[in-house]
Amino acid sequence: MTALLPTSTAGSLPKPSWLAQPETLWSPWKLDDGELAEGKRDALRLSLAEQQAAGIDIVSDGEQTRQHFVTTFIENLGGVDFENRRVMTIRDRYEAAVPVVVEAVTRKQAVFVEDAAFLRQHTDAPIKWALPGPMTMVDTLYDAHYGSRRDLAWEFAAILNQEAKELAAAGVDIVQFDEPAFNVFFDDVKSWGIAALERAAEGLECETAVHICYGYGIEANTDWKKTLGSEWRQYEETFPRLREASIDIVSLECHNSHVPMELLELVRGKKLMVGAIDVASPAVETPQDVATTLRNALQFVDPDQLWPSTNCGMAPLPRTVARAKLAALGAGAEIVRRELSEGSLG
Ligand code: ZN
Repeated sequence: MTALLPTSTAGSLPKPSWLAQPETLWSPWKLDDGELAEGKRDALRLSLAEQQAAGIDIVSDGEQTRQHFVTTFIENLGGVDFENRRVMTIRDRYEAAVPVVVEAVTRKQAVFVEDAAFLRQHTDAPIKWALPGPMTMVDTLYDAHYGSRRDLAWEFAAILNQEAKELAAAGVDIVQFDEPAFNVFFDDVKSWGIAALERAAEGLECETAVHICYGYGIEANTDWKKTLGSEWRQYEETFPRLREASIDIVSLECHNSHVPMELLELVRGKKLMVGAIDVASPAVETPQDVATTLRNALQFVDPDQLWPSTNCGMAPLPRTVARAKLAALGAGAEIVRRELSEGSLG
């Protein structure tokens, strides 16, 4: 990455309304079969164009070809029964009817590799590709086979590693593992979560990132955030361990969340994708708002390690809002880039 403060998004972007119901998680597709396949590709191309128009430097697929960041990956694995679901509490927060692990999990085929190759054909910009992390996958399923969250996570880590290596070979520059569960299950993070994450990233020749957040702006998450008090110190549990881990980049929430900025100090040395866009509010940040968050982060992060980003994915937001937030991110980063090159930031 040559430019200072390269911008990116944490993950998903809204889909066009002709492809899927807007402002809905797990939104059903509006097309079928061949039309769906073509529609997903068209949406991917549109998403790329919108990111580039907004001045986003590290582009992604905007998760246009997946219904959900965890379940779509799991749907492509063997050993999981999607028909006979069980009700379970996800991230200690909300109940959902989830698929059941009924036998050893396997990767039947590549999941996103063709989509990544398609994106690669359409841009020379660096590409970041998000995959679910092993712990977050485990937390989205009912396990009726392994009897151990750790063992199941270890199997998922090996499967993710295969997928990640093929994504890198298809031209992906950064593979990101999404681990919102790292903000909830601290004991598991310590005893096996980071080890499983490192297993998923083992031997990758591209850069690797982990995204840890307070979730999409859906009601269950905003209700949970109200219980966290005035200072959100969850990162304090995980960051000292991540600092020692073999992951290159940490992606986190910084804007409008109650995360004390000084916690960034705990992962000094890593590149930080600093969330400067609130995904839980439809209010569009101004470029100055973004610049303020980035300047605050610069107290604790070296300029060459600061990568401006969004707090989390923007899939549940109206498309016009997400587009405006992307533009604010691009413009806000440019303000601080200019200040840094002029030396006007102390
Ligand atoms: Zn997130």
